[in-house]
Amino acid sequence: MLRKKAKRGKKRKDHGVVCRWCGSRNVVKNGKKADGRQTYLCKDCGRRMVEKPKYKRMREEDLKVALKLRREGMSYGAIARTLGYGETTIRWHIKRVLEES
Ligand SMILES: [Zn+2]
Repeated sequence: MLRKKAKRGKKRKDHGVVCRWCGSRNVVKNGKKADGRQTYLCKDCGRRMVEKPKYKRMREEDLKVALKLRREGMSYGAIARTLGYGETTIRWHIKRVLEES
C-alpha cells in the first residue's frame, strides 16, 4: 500500500479509517446508519463508506426466532447453537432490538 507522507498543518483526528476508494486518510465521520454502523465521508474523493459490521448479520426470520426463544427463557448460547450463529452475534442482535423497542 502506498503511504503518503504529506505533512498537514493541523493534526486531524485519525479514525484509523482509510478511504476504500482512493486510499486517503482524510476521512471524517458522517453519521450513522439505521443499524448503528458508522458511516464515513472521504474529504478527498467525496465518497462515502460504511464501517464494517462488527457482527455477522442475521436474517430477519432468524432474529425473530431468536427473540422468541429468548423471551421463553432460552440462553443465548442455546439460541446460538439452535440457529447456527455465534453467541456474541445473537447477544448483540437481541440487545440491539431490545434497546430499539
Ligand atoms: Zn477517498
